[in-house]
Amino acid sequence: MKAELIAKEKKTIHELDSLFKPKSIAIIGASTKDLSIGNVIIKNLVHYGYKGPIYPINPKEPEVRGIKAYPTIFDVPGEIDLAHIIIPSKFVPQMIEDCGKKGIKSVIINSAGFSEMGEEGMALQTAFLQKAKQYGVRVFGPNCQGIINSDPELKAYCDFTFTFPEPGSISIVALSGGVGAFIMQSVFDLGIGMRMYASNGNACDVSISDVVSYYGEDDGTKAIILYTEGFSNPKEFMDVAKVVARKKPILAMKAGRTEEGAKAAASHTGSLAGVDIATELIFEKTGMLTFNNEEEMCQTAMAFATQPYPKGNRVGIITNTGGPAVIATDELVSKGLQIPALSERAKNILKTTMLPEASINNPIDVVATGGGKHFRSALDVLMDEEGIDAVYINFVTAPFTDTDEVARQIVEVNKMKKKPIVCNFMTNMSMERYQQTAKIMKDGGVPCYAFPTTAAKALGALYKYHLVRSRNIGEAKLFSDINKKQAETILIEAKKEGKTFLSSKQVFNLLGAYKIPLADWRISDSPYDVAKAAREVGFPVVLKADSESLVHKSDMGGVVVNLKNMDEVLTAVEKMKNKFDMKDLKFLVQKFLPGGRELIGGVSAKQGLGHLLMFGIGGIYVEVLKDVAFKIAPVTEVEAKEMLSSIKTSKLLDGVRGEKGIHKESVVEIIQRLSQLVCDFPEIREMDLNPIMAFENNAMVVDARIKI
Ligand code: ADP
Ligand code: MG
Repeated sequence: MKAELIAKEKKTIHELDSLFKPKSIAIIGASTKDLSIGNVIIKNLVHYGYKGPIYPINPKEPEVRGIKAYPTIFDVPGEIDLAHIIIPSKFVPQMIEDCGKKGIKSVIINSAGFSEMGEEGMALQTAFLQKAKQYGVRVFGPNCQGIINSDPELKAYCDFTFTFPEPGSISIVALSGGVGAFIMQSVFDLGIGMRMYASNGNACDVSISDVVSYYGEDDGTKAIILYTEGFSNPKEFMDVAKVVARKKPILAMKAGRTEEGAKAAASHTGSLAGVDIATELIFEKTGMLTFNNEEEMCQTAMAFATQPYPKGNRVGIITNTGGPAVIATDELVSKGLQIPALSERAKNILKTTMLPEASINNPIDVVATGGGKHFRSALDVLMDEEGIDAVYINFVTAPFTDTDEVARQIVEVNKMKKKPIVCNFMTNMSMERYQQTAKIMKDGGVPCYAFPTTAAKALGALYKYHLVRSRNIGEAKLFSDINKKQAETILIEAKKEGKTFLSSKQVFNLLGAYKIPLADWRISDSPYDVAKAAREVGFPVVLKADSESLVHKSDMGGVVVNLKNMDEVLTAVEKMKNKFDMKDLKFLVQKFLPGGRELIGGVSAKQGLGHLLMFGIGGIYVEVLKDVAFKIAPVTEVEAKEMLSSIKTSKLLDGVRGEKGIHKESVVEIIQRLSQLVCDFPEIREMDLNPIMAFENNAMVVDARIKI
């Protein structure tokens, strides 16, 4: 019984509690100098109202900022949960050992001079990490700001920045202290409370993944804001984020993605996927909400902090002015939301409650003279309306209405938390009267925005999270009809030959082993065998020059299509022989497959992540259209289908203007088989299937390159 109790208690204590919920804090390197980190941190802890004991450590000073100081941590009478380390980097390894001996569980190393400073710094980092492992000390940083926990029971401001957030439900994690600080400040400016903050600099031990996982388990955190510049261990992060994103929204941002994305599609699969596109894909795969704009991310956080999530995409709009509703509608619709007509029931109620000049459709225009009771009735109707999932309000503070009363009514309905509400609140904030109205809205937890588009975007994000949570990508299919042994043999052979690129024969055999459909093919070592090959494949055929040094064959005249008889084949062989005098020249004879749509499939290996898969419009247009989609392997059937539907010209796949559509199922299967192949053989670095010829009833690969 007792053991059971202990076990239960243990489970609720998290390893990182000493970092995020420190019971006592030492500042190693505490300073009496006002403008030093070792002073500011103590000042911040006191100013924020930290509830535990603070132990300044300084060999010379009897006190720092009026608090008793100790020469060393060993002189501190009580236990220390967490220590800030603000001493020159060369002393840090020894200090970590001391911390271990004192039983300190976590340290925040604010000092710089480690991995960011080249080899010497790296050696110091390795040295203190080894000590930390030895003594079981968790390290936050180095070269970092620290953490903040706004819990009123704790009030830990273990950081040297200058924003003192009100307690709330948004937790922030940012590798970069600069970005973290301004996100925290803008969250503060928006009047959104903050729960926890973490900026971990070099992140040598406690990683972004650890922090996200911790926030995931923290009941006080309703939503997470994440800023990163990439992941040192993307696989680990994906595992964590996948779980946490199901529980609570993760609003994430990574700078510089779009440019890379564009660059990514510019070349073939080899160089197409910069590290940055991988980060975006990680966000998508794990169900995080991605932002390109930090302001939008913070604004959206306001809605996540206060609102429930919609259960569908149907929005009811209430407005007391026309134009902004039009702007909002545009934005809402572009995010996949709808503005459906109201039921007869709803309209009948509104007919009796609204002013005669009001419009009782969706949007419900209560008109500028509409007051609190009109807003209230419209809100009640939408909250009861089965065909409505969320409410968008345009509220302009018309001078001839009791705007406070309108605000009170909105707040009352908002407090019921039946359906999400966002408000585009249009007013003059320099007037006291309207500041009062704004305060009622804010205190009542109504997310207010200054522009219709911003409010609509926030609602769009709430809806997106609903989609993310209800999206189930399923498991990757494992085809059992493949021949893994054969594939392995081919790859071993290629490695033995010291090849980077597989020969055509190896390529087609490898794809064949995984039952990726190919246009019937033969390789002829000599021109004399070509005739036999052509007869076997059957006319019309395609002849391709095959040599390791030939990359874009058709550019050099190395591809001749639609050879209808033996004469044409032999003439083509003669020509090619004269044109290409490579020693290793062979001939690929292939079934000619006319009239297909040319698609591209591809693979690119990413350090620490596995493979990225690509699909798009292929053939000679690939560079021009750059219309491709990526996913991280393993790719499930749902994801493969999403790849087809997410390219810009996805409608082409269905056929346009009387053209036949392609057999999407075959392409989806090729992508899945490709995914299985590269997951089985991580040594595959790059792959281009270009083109995959897609027809009404099937799809076949006619050209491929594989790099190992
Ligand atoms: P490369 O990419 O090296 O130039 P490909 O083998 O991809 O050579 O051939 C170039 C183009 O020739 C293809 O994009 C396609 O239009 C056409 N082509 C190649 N093989 C076939 C085939 N078996 N059937 C029909 N068209 C083909
Ligand atoms: Mg090609």
